[in-house]
Amino acid sequence: MFKGILIEGTRGDQQVSLQSIDESGLPEGDVTVDVSFSTLNYKDALAITGKSPIVKQYPMVPGIDFAGTVSSSDHADFQAGDPVVLNGWGVGEKHWGGLAEKARVSGDWLIPLPEAFSPKQAMAIGTAGYTAMLCVMALEKHDVTPESGEILVTGATGGVGSIAVAVLAKLGYSVTAVTGRPEEADYLKSLGAANILDRAELSAPGKPLTRETWAGAIDVAGGQVLANVCAGMKYRGVVAACGLAAGMDFPSTVAPFILRGVTLCGVDSVMAPKQERLEAWKRLSEDLDTALLDSMITEVPFDNVIEAASQLLDGQVRGRIVVPVAQ
Ligand code: NDP
Repeated sequence: MFKGILIEGTRGDQQVSLQSIDESGLPEGDVTVDVSFSTLNYKDALAITGKSPIVKQYPMVPGIDFAGTVSSSDHADFQAGDPVVLNGWGVGEKHWGGLAEKARVSGDWLIPLPEAFSPKQAMAIGTAGYTAMLCVMALEKHDVTPESGEILVTGATGGVGSIAVAVLAKLGYSVTAVTGRPEEADYLKSLGAANILDRAELSAPGKPLTRETWAGAIDVAGGQVLANVCAGMKYRGVVAACGLAAGMDFPSTVAPFILRGVTLCGVDSVMAPKQERLEAWKRLSEDLDTALLDSMITEVPFDNVIEAASQLLDGQVRGRIVVPVAQ
């Protein structure tokens, strides 16, 4: 038996509890992992609260991320004792996830724990941080440099936003952090934000094109916020869009794209190819200050994860949640 969070029932009528789970229930996979740390991402909170149809089959152990040690392996790349990290691949959605003491997955989904990070730090980064780095890489791929001009980061006090601000600032970019929590301005400045912008400035319907302001943007909000971000891009500006915290819609026009040559890059972390993941984690090892990472962490005991999921969706959590599972 092992301890884990289990979502049971059916869509629209689910029950979530921390319980003892029989090991025979573990899904198929060629690597079994003793999980030491997990985390709570926005998507995990949606799964646990049932607010979006994240869970594709029941019962489900949530948790799209975990860090731990291989306990047994039939996969050529991993042996018992190897420290590993998992992000995404549908884990915690259609394959049992990381909010449990044990996980069984395909070895193709695992990457070695980067040497620069402890398992706890890897989970402080988690899918949110690895996605923030994919977004930074998308800007770089489209030739956005610190000399190009100001970079906008939305949802800046959240997980993706906090890590994006810290990485961009370390790389020498001037960052404007957009937040609905102006009282967190000192926190955002401590991560390296040069300027703070009130989220309200981007939340109301605006013009198709506004003053050319941003050379690049990382957007976790979607909805009207993303439309306004696109409208305010400089000529040939680049937007990396990864989230929907403000909504799934995109009430924009083609004006930013056909009149200013703006590029909108979609960023998906879940099915990103392994090579890109390894590159993102390598870059995180080089370009994320671990002292700043430590300042972003709220540790939530296993017993309080279900409650913390609602708090996260209510915007009451700053930075990243880490869940110590078993040490
Ligand atoms: P968090 O909950 O940690 O942060 C989200 C932040 O968004 C909040 O802290 C808040 O920041 C801001 N926010 C909340 N509501 C609104 C709103 N109505 N309008 C604008 N901003 C809002 O979540 P994550 O950082 O982990 O994830 C952010 C988004 O990115 C989510 O939608 C998530 O699903 C998505 N995501 C996508 C991935 C992918 O692969 N594409 C991977 C990881 C995340 P503040 O108070 O500072 O404004």
